[in-house]
Amino acid sequence: MLFFLDQHGCAKNQVDGELIIGYLRERGWERTDDPDAADLIVVNSCGFIESAKKESLDAALTAHAAHPRAKVLLAGCLAERYADDLAEGLPEVAGFFGNGDLSKIGDFVAGLFPDAPKAGGADPATSPVLVSPQEGVCVGERPEILSFPRSVYVKITEGCDNWCSFCAIPLIRGRLRSRSVAEIVGECRDLVGRGYYELNFIGQDLAAFGTGDGDSVDGEPVADRLVDANAPGSRSSAGGEAAENGSAPAPSPLSRLLRGISALEGDFRVRLLYIHPDHFPRDILPVMAADPRFLPYFDIPFQSGDGKILAAMNRRGDAESYKRLVEDIRAAFAAPGNPYGTVALRTTILSGFPGETDESFEATARFLADIRPMWSGSFAWSEEEGTKAADMKKRPTKKAVKVRLDTLLEIQRRITPERLSFFMGKTVDVLVEELIPVSEESRDGADVDIPESRLALGRAWFQAPEVDGSVVLQFEDNQADSAGKPIGPGSVVSAVVMNVNGVDVEAVVR
Ligand code: SF4
Repeated sequence: MLFFLDQHGCAKNQVDGELIIGYLRERGWERTDDPDAADLIVVNSCGFIESAKKESLDAALTAHAAHPRAKVLLAGCLAERYADDLAEGLPEVAGFFGNGDLSKIGDFVAGLFPDAPKAGGADPATSPVLVSPQEGVCVGERPEILSFPRSVYVKITEGCDNWCSFCAIPLIRGRLRSRSVAEIVGECRDLVGRGYYELNFIGQDLAAFGTGDGDSVDGEPVADRLVDANAPGSRSSAGGEAAENGSAPAPSPLSRLLRGISALEGDFRVRLLYIHPDHFPRDILPVMAADPRFLPYFDIPFQSGDGKILAAMNRRGDAESYKRLVEDIRAAFAAPGNPYGTVALRTTILSGFPGETDESFEATARFLADIRPMWSGSFAWSEEEGTKAADMKKRPTKKAVKVRLDTLLEIQRRITPERLSFFMGKTVDVLVEELIPVSEESRDGADVDIPESRLALGRAWFQAPEVDGSVVLQFEDNQADSAGKPIGPGSVVSAVVMNVNGVDVEAVVR
């Protein structure tokens, strides 16, 4: 039996897609890249914002229309959030499977194919809808990783307790829960053993790792160890709160995890994605600076630079506390001898939030210009059903929001090349993603002289998958990668940065 996976949404949902592949393969299903050949089409949907919901719904309807022989299963956040309503109105979809417990997908699919040969202890589901409680973090085999070669996402938490007033994630993914340090270290050891080089740690908010109500780190309860990264004293405080007797504060759960990862053997790199600024545990900085396998790449969604708007977003920081945080992060990697010598900061700004005025927007634009992140994405606020912000008034006009987004984009368009110029003439390691075929015709027909050398696309440490620019690599056929193999997807090469071209850099393999 063949299934086709149509993946939507964020990196966290991609990990779920990879787990779904693992669970279905355990039941004898095989994944096909050809939806026409599939018996089952799994649309692993996104339910985060209006446009994403529409995209996923359209995908399910299109799948049914284009491949009437196949059964369509709607999985992911849209199914998690609206399974019952959708089941009433969408006869085109055979099943609605939430993401609370992915291990049940084998039985669920067996229920959709009552005549199919039963594999592996099937207990076919009887209802076309299954939404399991959001408990624990789904783990399992991931025989197929959907990222470019040698790059993989590692989900360390699920759910979120931050309740940002514009965000529906807690309504979909439930309360925060974290995997244990031992389990994550074990998975990373296995992934490195399977040849993965770039491990991208993800969760809704990595800073809250290990602080969920039911969480424990190495068997010790660590509830309420969220750091208040905005408190003036927090510059010095390590992780947790100072013990009553004034002794050194307990390390934050995230720093414990990174210490566990740092004890692993092997040539790999770790990137941290999505860290909430309000409780950024500064005690991870010395751990990371001490081991160059931790990339000084920080994705910290500040969302706004205006105190009133941040408070309305249910965030506790302000432009000053956030700037202090950025300064401390940069200082941690500026020490002489640090192999990176700089930090790659990515942030996200939400414009058009209810109550945003020209003044508050200017504060945000100033904040962005002040922190000068290497990368940023700016988005228009959208009303999300069930969120606090959905009931808020004083919404800026679409026209005003468009102008503000353009302004933020323009600010970033100036900053990124300036930040990337730091690497001019420097040698960086590049993970190759794909080779660029240069056809003889294009070589002959080109009005510029295309060198005999080969071209490839890759990423350096300061470029995260899918969201940042790329490295355009030039190399000779007889050159090899760091493992002495011909250069191809998954290769790691050392290259000298020769040029910055907008968000991309051009480099020549040494
Ligand atoms: S940190 Fe805020 S924006 Fe991020 S998932 Fe949690 S509630 Fe949503």
